[in-house]
Amino acid sequence: MSLSVAIIGSGPAAFYTAGALLKSDTDCRIDIIERLPCPYGLIRFGVAPDHEKTKNVWRAFAKTAAHEKVNFYGNVEIGKEISLGELRRIYDAVVLAVGAGSDRAVGIPGEDKKGVFGSATFVNWYNGHPDCRDLEPDLDVQAAVVLGNGNVAIDVARVLVKTPGEMAATDLPDYAARPIHASPLTDVYMVGRRGPNEAKYTNVELREMGRLENCVALAEAAQLPDSVAGEMSDRDRRMKEKNLATVREFTTRKGDEKPKRVHFKYYAQPVEILGDARVTGVRFERTQVVDGRAEGVGEYFEIACGLVVAAIGYTSRPVAETPFDARGGIVRNDDGRVEDGLYAVGWIKRGPSGVIGSNKPDGKLAAEQILADHGAGSGEKSGRAAFEALLAERGVRAVSFSEWQTIEAAEIANARHGAPRKKFVSTGEMLALLG
Ligand SMILES: Cc1cc2nc3c(=O)[nH]c(=O)nc-3n(C[C@H](O)[C@H](O)[C@H](O)COP(=O)(O)OP(=O)(O)OC[C@H]3O[C@@H](n4cnc5c(N)ncnc54)[C@H](O)[C@@H]3O)c2cc1C
Repeated sequence: MSLSVAIIGSGPAAFYTAGALLKSDTDCRIDIIERLPCPYGLIRFGVAPDHEKTKNVWRAFAKTAAHEKVNFYGNVEIGKEISLGELRRIYDAVVLAVGAGSDRAVGIPGEDKKGVFGSATFVNWYNGHPDCRDLEPDLDVQAAVVLGNGNVAIDVARVLVKTPGEMAATDLPDYAARPIHASPLTDVYMVGRRGPNEAKYTNVELREMGRLENCVALAEAAQLPDSVAGEMSDRDRRMKEKNLATVREFTTRKGDEKPKRVHFKYYAQPVEILGDARVTGVRFERTQVVDGRAEGVGEYFEIACGLVVAAIGYTSRPVAETPFDARGGIVRNDDGRVEDGLYAVGWIKRGPSGVIGSNKPDGKLAAEQILADHGAGSGEKSGRAAFEALLAERGVRAVSFSEWQTIEAAEIANARHGAPRKKFVSTGEMLALLG
C-alpha cells in the first residue's frame, strides 16, 4: 500500500510540496502533472531572461523530479484531457498548484486598444511561452507606459531598454529580441498610483535601473517624501529607506546623459487609454495617499505613448470543479485545505504575491496536511496506474521528465553568445524533437 498524490502544475509551489512529501518516511507515489511539456512554471516564464541566477532553484527541483517516487507528466492539462474529478477519484490526495497566470484588468476605458497588454501576456511573450509567442507587439514606438510600481513593472521596463549586448547572454527568444532591439523607443514611463514608500519593488531591482548601459533612470525630487513614516517592521523600514535613497539618486540624473530614459513617476492613476484603434497615450489623474490608499484629487495629465504594459497584478482563472473566490482570484481554501482530499498551494492558494521561496511554507503545510489526513494511503486508489491508463485511453502524449531533459539538453546545445539556453517556444517543436 502506498500513498498516491497528484500535484497539478509544476511551478515552485508544486516542487516544494513534492520535496516536503519526500522528506517523510511514508511510502508514496507523487505525480506532477503540467499542461506544458516543460516544467518550472514562472521560473521559466516569469523570472526575467536577464536574471538567470534567480532561476537556479530549478536545479533542486530537477532532483525532486528525478526521484524514484516522483513522475512528471508534461503536456497534460487538467480540465482538458483529464478532469479534476477523475483525478480525485484515482488519487488519495490532489494538490492544486496551478498558479495565477492571467492578467488583472485595469478597468478603465480604452484598455482593449491595440498596443495595450497585461504584464502576464507581455512577460510570457518575451519569455517564449507557447501561448504568447505570436503576440507580435508593435514596438515601432518612441514612448511606453508601464503601469505599476513592483518588480514586474521594473522587469518589463528593463527588458525594453537594455542593449543587445546587455541581453546577449540571456534566453530572450530571437523573435522578441529582434523587435525590442530594433525599436526606436527612447522613453519608458513607470507610473505608480502611490508614492515611492508604498512601491513594492525590491532594492536590488531598483538599483539595477540606475546602472544600465544606454538608459538613465529619472525621478522628480518634488515627488519624494522626506522620510519613511508610519508603523512597519524594522526590515520593511530598512528596505523602504534604501528604495527612497535610490530614487533620490535618480533625481540627480540628467535626461540627456544617455539615449534612453526610464521615468519613475508616482501619485497618478490611469483613467483612460487614449487613441482610436491604437493606443496613443494614457490619461492620468493625480492622487494622494490617504490611509495607505490612492485617492484621485481631480487634476489630470496625459502621457503620449504607443505601448502600454499594465503590471498591476496577476489573477487565477477559475479552476473547474472547485469552489472559486472570484474577487480574490484564488481557490477558496482553509489554510490550503479545499475539500476532502483536495489541497491548494502557491499563488492559487494565496494570490499572486511573494517570491519563489514564499511558496515553500505552503508546500510544507500541504505535505503535513496530506500525511495527517491520509497517512500511508487508503490502498483503494491506485493513482499512477489508473492515471496512465486514462492517458493511454485518451491518446494523450505525456512528456516524461527524462524526455524533458532531452528537450533541455537540446536547448542548451542550441544556445549562443554565452546564453544559458535557446528556448523552444512551441509545444509542437518540443514534441517534434522527441519524435
Ligand atoms: C513576471 C514575474 C517575475 C517574477 N520574478 C521573480 C523573481 O525574479 N524572483 C522571485 O523570487 N520570484 C519571482 N516571481 C514570483 C514567482 O515566480 C512566484 O512566486 C512563483 O512562480 C509562484 O509559484 P506557483 O507554483 O504558485 O505558480 P507558477 O509558477 O505559475 O506555476 C503554475 C504551473 O501550473 C501550470 N498549470 C496551470 N494550469 C494547469 C492545468 N490546468 N493543468 C496542468 N498544469 C497547469 C502552469 O503551466 C505552471 O507551470 C515572479 C513572478 C512573475 C509573475
